[in-house]
Amino acid sequence: MQTSFSPEQLQSPRIQLADDILRNCVHCGFCTATCPTYVLKGDELDSPRGRIYQIKEMFEAGKGAGPQITKHLDRCLSCLSCMTTCPSGVHYMHLVDEARAHVQETHKRPLIDRLLRTVLALVLPYPSRFTLALKAARLARPLAGVFNNFSALKPMGAMLALAPGKIDKPGPLSKTGVHKSDKTKSGRVALLTGCANSVLEPSINEASVRVLNRTGIEVVIPAGMGCCGSLEHHLGMEHGALEKVKANVDAWMAEVNGDGLDAIIINASGCGTTVKDYGHMLRLDAAYADKAKTVSSLTRDITEYLEEIELDGFSDKQNMRVTYHSACSMQHGQKIKTAPKALLAKAGFEVVDVPEGHLCCGSAGVYNIMQSELADQLKTRKLANIAKTSPQIIAAGNIGCITQLASGTDVPVIHTIELVDWAQGGPKPGKIHP
Ligand code: SF4
Ligand code: SF4
Repeated sequence: MQTSFSPEQLQSPRIQLADDILRNCVHCGFCTATCPTYVLKGDELDSPRGRIYQIKEMFEAGKGAGPQITKHLDRCLSCLSCMTTCPSGVHYMHLVDEARAHVQETHKRPLIDRLLRTVLALVLPYPSRFTLALKAARLARPLAGVFNNFSALKPMGAMLALAPGKIDKPGPLSKTGVHKSDKTKSGRVALLTGCANSVLEPSINEASVRVLNRTGIEVVIPAGMGCCGSLEHHLGMEHGALEKVKANVDAWMAEVNGDGLDAIIINASGCGTTVKDYGHMLRLDAAYADKAKTVSSLTRDITEYLEEIELDGFSDKQNMRVTYHSACSMQHGQKIKTAPKALLAKAGFEVVDVPEGHLCCGSAGVYNIMQSELADQLKTRKLANIAKTSPQIIAAGNIGCITQLASGTDVPVIHTIELVDWAQGGPKPGKIHP
């Protein structure tokens, strides 16, 4: 694609990066067919190619963002299905991240929209605030229908509908510090406990520690580590996102330079995609660029890491049919396609793929709150595809997808690592009824 940025415009790192990415696009349109929002709406402006054109025009004009492009960028799930399809290697993720930051810096959204986005950014990345908000949401749940009657307040209704009925208290394995293995030490990793995992399903982190410990891996949950920053990053709130990124880099580098780390383990693929991008996000920060690169190079999804170390110790065949839902951040963001399924099969489960598996379930960070109608359509479509496989269990490697899918089905939706833990003799996941 030809671009026409002036030499002055190209002085800006944002425009330089956008120019490099835009020039790779040959407007073939292959990406449109696999874009969930294009599949639903059939509108070129809600396709990757259409968004790329709109971003190009916005940046070339050198002006602030308007309501039109904001609407079409807000409807993008950042699922990155377009990047998997694109034959020219267009880095849509970095392009849309820059466009969102530009929208945030230059466009004044309606008041309620601004307030909601601010509240989400001030609450969700902080486990204690998030826990309080969930408790309040349980009390306010009867009001969900009222909010749904006003289009500007629909995100509030969606938030209440998604809040879980009960919240489990974290156990000792969720605590900050070192979790040693009883076996001969064969490695040392840090575990990102995450803001959503640690509040919504701490059992995921605890299963992760148990599985790693069983193979002799020492697990550290470092003090000072927090949200990966992806929530604010996807809202275009770069300052808040980068503060969180730097805090995590500091926490992990203290371990790297202390007792050492073989890997940084992530068990929520949405966070994994972001942490693997820290090197890019901090590339212009002289004090952090190298450290962030080291962090990204050490980062592994837990299934990716367990595949590398060849996990064993499974008991008998499980005789259960597990439909594996591959999160977009897993298959498109991190290109991890086989490791989780291979692990489940090794653990003795019968593993089945989801038809149309490349399409997003509608979770996408806070998309199911901010764009609840489109998200609901995608959820219904995904669950209908999953139902065709007659699963006894649905497995996924991302808490956002787990919450989204569980809100529309009675089939237990369980994190891959909890199933692996169970197959090794760990506790039966609470969602599986006797
Ligand atoms: S598939 Fe790639 S090159 Fe083709 S239009 Fe989409 S982004 Fe551009
Ligand atoms: S990230 Fe997903 S929703 Fe956004 S343009 Fe690409 S395929 Fe479409």
